[in-house]
Amino acid sequence: MTYVMATEPPTYCPYCGETVDERDVEGVATPHCPDCEVTFFEEQLVSARATVVDGDSALLIERGRGADVGVWATPGGFVDPGETLPEAAARELREETSLRVDPADLALVGTGRIAFADGNAQLFVTFAAPMAAADGAVEPGDDAADARFWTRTELEAHPDTGDPETRTLGATGLEQLLEAIERDGR
Ligand SMILES: [Zn+2]
Repeated sequence: MTYVMATEPPTYCPYCGETVDERDVEGVATPHCPDCEVTFFEEQLVSARATVVDGDSALLIERGRGADVGVWATPGGFVDPGETLPEAAARELREETSLRVDPADLALVGTGRIAFADGNAQLFVTFAAPMAAADGAVEPGDDAADARFWTRTELEAHPDTGDPETRTLGATGLEQLLEAIERDGR
């Protein structure tokens, strides 16, 4: 028996072309090729995020590309092959804000799952480090149009409305940003 990760449930087996059927995996009907005996598990997209906390403020970036242009969010992105979650979060932080933190200095703030209207979902994990652990000056990079610290008061005044037309703070990050300020702030 072989297990393969797939981003979409296949209709035909990519190895032999046979129509895929299903087998029961712990109560879940899971795509399976009867000829190759391969079971196709859906791959989960995982993004790693990291903010830096300075006083009562947390570092955010303004998205400069994609569907969320103009929305402010915790720096982050998809985990590359070979990376740990803190390594990916530290790399994304560096690419988007120019601040460098040692992955070992990132503390876990929380995790979550975003379900999209098209049925896809994304898992995320959020880390934070205090400003004392960060090197460099804030400078937006990669797909970030801007980067700056938001105070707790500003964050609380911009809840994610869920409406892409009106929201300024996106991607369900608010609670975890406030949590990071609570823990690392002074
Ligand atoms: Zn097959």
